[in-house]
Amino acid sequence: MSNQTRFLLNESDLPRFWYNINADSPVAPTPVLNPQTLEPVTPDFLSVLFPMELIMQEISTERYIEIPAEVREIYKLWRPTPLLRARRLEKALGTPAHIYYKYEGVSPAGSHKPNTAIAQAYYNKVSGTKAITTETGAGQWGSALALACSFFDIDLEVFMVKVSYNQKPYRRLMMETFGAQVFASPTDRTQYGRTILTQDPDSPGSLGMAISEAVEVAATSGGVKKYSLGSVLNHVLMHQTVIGEEALKQMDLAGEYPDVVLGCVGGGSNFAGIAYPFLRENLVDGKKTRLVAVEPTATPSLTRGTYTFDYGDSARMAPVVKMHTLGHSFVPAPIHAGGLRYHGMAPSLCALYDAGHIQAVAVPQLATFAAGVQFARCEGIIPAPESAHAIWAAIDEALEAKRLGEKRVILFNLSGHGNFDMASYEAYFSGKLQDYEYPEADIQKAMLSLPKVEQFV
Ligand SMILES: *Cc1c(COP(=O)(O)O)cnc(C)c1O
Repeated sequence: MSNQTRFLLNESDLPRFWYNINADSPVAPTPVLNPQTLEPVTPDFLSVLFPMELIMQEISTERYIEIPAEVREIYKLWRPTPLLRARRLEKALGTPAHIYYKYEGVSPAGSHKPNTAIAQAYYNKVSGTKAITTETGAGQWGSALALACSFFDIDLEVFMVKVSYNQKPYRRLMMETFGAQVFASPTDRTQYGRTILTQDPDSPGSLGMAISEAVEVAATSGGVKKYSLGSVLNHVLMHQTVIGEEALKQMDLAGEYPDVVLGCVGGGSNFAGIAYPFLRENLVDGKKTRLVAVEPTATPSLTRGTYTFDYGDSARMAPVVKMHTLGHSFVPAPIHAGGLRYHGMAPSLCALYDAGHIQAVAVPQLATFAAGVQFARCEGIIPAPESAHAIWAAIDEALEAKRLGEKRVILFNLSGHGNFDMASYEAYFSGKLQDYEYPEADIQKAMLSLPKVEQFV
């Protein structure tokens, strides 16, 4: 075991392949359905929104997919990212556990999201796409894609959830600096947005609504604009596996192997990114690492959602997939972990969770901020409110190890920094934040409007 704090890889250690969990997953992929016909989607349907290479990655069962040289060149601007041992946090907790974290906040956008944004922009560029539409919650995804589109000279329109647009003006400016156009969703630019505004002029927006707007613009552009999603889809999760592949090598440098791997989950991409390569070692090599996804109690898709087919967006334009869902009509409380407010979850992750290969826990908002502040004061990095969920779970594991007097090796993904989230920290410090449990009655009500697809359940 090493006495180092930072475990760094060379540029030459940058992964050459993304890892595709579908090659090793013990659970069969569930069908993806056309939202109008509720029959399995055809590549033709998807090709309105996505370039063909990404559609092929979506359904691929090949174990490793080569990362194009152009994408690896751009990854080198910040990858390989560091892995650190949180020695000062361990000491503050008085725990015998060893806590490691993989830090994705060193990317230009400040999170893991450019890992897929660069890849998606690249495949769009080579297939001739000139313009892309997307949604963003907290603004992390929009910033990452704005960065990627500026590198590949593609126009970008971002529908930003209104509550975040107002909470995070600097995220918007960051996107504009990279050349994107940003709109507060719901907007009056789409038919769906206008419908929502007529019913509720003060709608705070939701990721489901913003996705509907972005999809509508791409789907009605006569093929000129494509759409891009920052999480949930198989190809997105696969692009994020560079995180776990690097972490495997770095844990090796540290001379340890994790007993537990933790990550926060919104749509599931940063968690899958770190966890799937370790799950491969579990499945193929007989390792026994626990993999734990951490979600907010305000949007408890895994821990309280129903595992069933649902629409990916509010307007029912995006494909229907089988996932743990709170219902596509879900409008979350305006909690500050904006990146975790999606009603559903990546289908591959849900299937693995349902089969017991992955565990999940839900944490209330105040506890996550307390954990984030404790981490900042020990380690010097102010975490994104989303990432603070993983920190909470890491601390919880470390304190349990202390109670049991056992050594435990904990690895978590620090998915991003919180330097643009100071307004959220301010709200926390001034006592304005509240805990929020999503009401059971709302979940039950939302279940009434699920698509009827018994033949696939
Ligand atoms: C977007 C985001 C998340 C949540 O998205 P996943 O797809 O679940 O990873 C988590 N952390 C940060 C910093 C984010 O920007």
